[in-house]
Amino acid sequence: MALVNPQGQKQIEELFPLVVAWVEQVEKEALEKGEPVLPPFEATAEALGIRQIDKIRVWKVDTMPTPENPQIQALAERFGLSIAGSGGLTLGHAILVLRSQATRGNLLAHELVHVRQYEQAGSISLFLKRYVAELVQFEYENMPLEREAAKYFAPWQ
Ligand SMILES: [Zn+2]
Repeated sequence: MALVNPQGQKQIEELFPLVVAWVEQVEKEALEKGEPVLPPFEATAEALGIRQIDKIRVWKVDTMPTPENPQIQALAERFGLSIAGSGGLTLGHAILVLRSQATRGNLLAHELVHVRQYEQAGSISLFLKRYVAELVQFEYENMPLEREAAKYFAPWQ
């Protein structure tokens, strides 16, 4: 279990609104630029119980966007999560995948699990609150939200 001192906890709380704003902003762009989820992944989305499958967009990118504030990245990396080094990233109903990894079906299935988790949380902000809390407590590889998605694909393997 990772330990965060009060100063680290304060930093996380201060950066959190910036994380939410960044996720909402990139989600918006990705929903405009991405493509609908196609078969066979439409069936995967259905099997997972995702409610708004029509809203999902998959945006292929050459490099993963990262928050402008370098403190956010540095902090995430402390707990084992490299945003810049991710092959896929789910922001609400937007799935970003690296173009070079876009055909890896199990990666897309992993990201679809995160879409369902966002839906279950009820909002981007509520999902991220839980995600950050788990990341800090368990670190990336062992946090329950990632463990659930790792049944399809484990990025750290
Ligand atoms: Zn994941």
